[in-house]
Amino acid sequence: AKWVYSFGDGKAEGAADMRNLLGGKGANLAEMSNLGLPVPPGFTITTEVCTAYYENDHAYPDELVGQVDAALAEIGKLTGRTFGDPANPLLVSVRSGARTSMPGMMDTVLNLGLNDETVKALEAESGDARFAYDSYRRFIQMYSDVVLGVEHQSFEEILEIFKENNGYSLDTELSADDWKTIIERFKALVAEELDDPFPQDPKAQLWGAIGAVFGSWMNARAKTYRRLHDIPASWGTAVNVQAMVFGNMGDTSATGVAFTRDPGTGESALYGEFLVNAQGEDVVAGIRTPQNITEAARLKARSDKPSLETVMPAAFAEFSKICQALESHYRDMQDMEFTIERGKLWMLQTRSGKRTARAALKIAVDMANDGLITREEAVMRVGAGALDQLLHPTIDPAAKRDIVATGLPASPGAASGQLVFTSEEAVEAAAAERNVILARVETSPEDIHGMHAAQGILTTRGGMTSHAAVVARGMGKPCVSGVGSIRIDYRAGTLTVAGRTFNKGDIITIDGSTGQVLAGEVAMLKPELTGDFGTLMEWADGARRMEVRANAETPNDARTAREFGAEGIGLCRTEHMFFDEDRILAMREMILAETSEGRRTALAKLLPMQRQDFTELFEIMHGLPVTIRLLDPPLHEFLPHTDEEIADVANAMGVDAERLRRRAHTLSEFNPMLGHRGCRLLISYPEIAEMQARAIFEAAIAAGKSTGAPIEPEVMVPLVGIKAELDVVKARIDAVAQEVMEESGTTIVYQVGTMIELPRAALKADDIAQSAEFFSFGTNDLTQTTFGISRDDAGSFLGDYQQQSIIEQDPFVSLDQEGVGELVRIGAERGRKTRPGIKMGICGEHGGDPSSIGFCETVGLDYVSCSPYRVPIARLAAAQAAL
Ligand code: ADP
Ligand code: MG
Ligand code: MG
Repeated sequence: AKWVYSFGDGKAEGAADMRNLLGGKGANLAEMSNLGLPVPPGFTITTEVCTAYYENDHAYPDELVGQVDAALAEIGKLTGRTFGDPANPLLVSVRSGARTSMPGMMDTVLNLGLNDETVKALEAESGDARFAYDSYRRFIQMYSDVVLGVEHQSFEEILEIFKENNGYSLDTELSADDWKTIIERFKALVAEELDDPFPQDPKAQLWGAIGAVFGSWMNARAKTYRRLHDIPASWGTAVNVQAMVFGNMGDTSATGVAFTRDPGTGESALYGEFLVNAQGEDVVAGIRTPQNITEAARLKARSDKPSLETVMPAAFAEFSKICQALESHYRDMQDMEFTIERGKLWMLQTRSGKRTARAALKIAVDMANDGLITREEAVMRVGAGALDQLLHPTIDPAAKRDIVATGLPASPGAASGQLVFTSEEAVEAAAAERNVILARVETSPEDIHGMHAAQGILTTRGGMTSHAAVVARGMGKPCVSGVGSIRIDYRAGTLTVAGRTFNKGDIITIDGSTGQVLAGEVAMLKPELTGDFGTLMEWADGARRMEVRANAETPNDARTAREFGAEGIGLCRTEHMFFDEDRILAMREMILAETSEGRRTALAKLLPMQRQDFTELFEIMHGLPVTIRLLDPPLHEFLPHTDEEIADVANAMGVDAERLRRRAHTLSEFNPMLGHRGCRLLISYPEIAEMQARAIFEAAIAAGKSTGAPIEPEVMVPLVGIKAELDVVKARIDAVAQEVMEESGTTIVYQVGTMIELPRAALKADDIAQSAEFFSFGTNDLTQTTFGISRDDAGSFLGDYQQQSIIEQDPFVSLDQEGVGELVRIGAERGRKTRPGIKMGICGEHGGDPSSIGFCETVGLDYVSCSPYRVPIARLAAAQAAL
């Protein structure tokens, strides 16, 4: 079998579409080679080797060694060097690369092939002893850390002590001889820690590094990342071995990273950073402050460090041409790594660039408008989940800003929260539902959990391409990076800047769009829904089949829903209307009344309020469909608990408090979620259904008059499992409708339908559809009842389930398509059999979850209904599902 694919010199055995086999990095290195771009030659060991390695007890396929040797020889031919040759050594980098990029998960080893002999050749060839020995010590340090597991910190300590003893402050002050001394100490450290000398044999080094890349696929960091991003372990990683080029060969050499467009704003302009005389990760690591690539960007950033455009005009010109070529070739914004070795440009990586939602939107719309992609492609390009970012607040320009420092605007959006300094604290705070800003000197992959938990991230070190910045943008979290003026003291738990000290727990605000750090909480503005956003939404609306409705009961929510483009209300939960101070008392009276008479008296007080609620809702929705669900709380939510509450109700009802307490006690339930709720309540207390139906119909007439729009209410009965349940309640509703029509002399067009939220309802949907004029799948309850898991108690064990891969996702967040989804499918099919064309939708959390929405499309539902703020996400997701 073929395990190794070569690239270089204008051709390659692989190509961009072989990403599954070659990993993203390897596939794109091959593609760039095929395009004739300057790529140092190399080869890719396939992801299949990784899979085989784990399947065969960490053993490689037999042919691998031979294929690697042949590929090495090939690089040797192209570079005129030989791997391991002391006179003319080939040096390589060993780089990991999975199908999708996993930033920072697996470290690259540079300068591999150096040893006590080959370093002399490097010295002779470059004519620069300092460079040669600096490269060698970097290699020992990196290799020992990544491959041999000797802590990076131990090497840094040796270096620090040496610098201190010699009065140096910068690495650049060390001479070649100094580096030689350091190298001896490094090697001694390794020998001592491992009881084995640092490997001098380049082949041994190479296989060590290859093994380390495959090994790292199963390290804890990689596993966590995969779990968070739903990447199966079976994908495996590839290994790329590539001839070294040196960005640290003096002042005509450089290394950098760039994006073809601004990944923060989407602006169509080359965007990036570089460092003269530097290697590999130096730019990302934020050790020195990098320089801008273009002159325009330098001016905008008001940087006094010259741009690449002025420092190396020829290499810059070639690079910008390549950027354009790559973007039109891939038809997407590219994120690239490059190195300039003594004036000669080399491309080391390209991939579709990560971007903020704002940038994704602008880039998609711009590219479609320029004809580079179609409108459908533009709709597919913006992650529906990521739209959330744009729906988040920004700082009100009119608000008073107490700016304490300014850093880099690394990921847009604004957030306020209590200051925390560790990821553990951030995770704890999130569990306690406190908003926090995670402040770190810099972040590493170990902080991913904390970054997830925090509202925003602040770092004092690192540029726009630092770990914090890249990861925050991916997560859609506001981030301000590289705030050099801030000092963080982890031990004291303080953040100091310009003579002011903030303690852990103090509230600060960060503005990831401007880079500002502000004291206290600052007023925020609602997001802008026009411009590119409006354009893309329009394209999405043109592409989708399903309607999008909102779950809303208050006038405020209904207005927000319409602003966000909701086409109706899919779920108005009437119980939420009874918790207001002035209503709960009447509600309690009603529940605790011992006679129908008593209940009617209490309900009479609620009728006008309820009618007013519905009238307002109908008016706001102006003829758009509105589904109103009759009362569905577990009773206990309304029962009075404290003595004071009991006294209040007793007083209002004119009954004895003790008697009332006993009545409340008899009504209490062992398992309220499976108790006396939904249609069960309406069957025991039909007066409730009657009052609500009357309120709905009278409101429909009133709103019809005031708006002139046709108001056709959809009355929904909750928690039905048996057709007869629905029939009993429906008879009451129809009777009231008849009464109201006669009283008013108006006809009311209305429908009565049901929630499908119990497994029995889904299974008997054919029966139920004889009475129900529409279905709404209540997947929250359906998930609870299908799994037999109480949503309110799931938190204590679902985490363990996810940790142990028993379930992949929280079924209350993303629909369990196999199980619960099967019931939805059955319900839909059986319902349609009885009543072809029956209107069906979904409400609950899943209605706003992109992958659940994709599922709804496959079942052919007519609409999804979600919280108002998720309506745009649902519109886009519905379009993506339809395309
Ligand atoms: P990551 O996925 O973390 O970016 P990479 O493998 O892309 O890891 O490389 C890390 C750094 O080393 C990058 O800056 C890259 O450009 C640089 N690098 C990798 N291979 C070479 C090489 N052959 N010559 C010079 N620099 C290299
Ligand atoms: Mg890279
Ligand atoms: Mg329910």
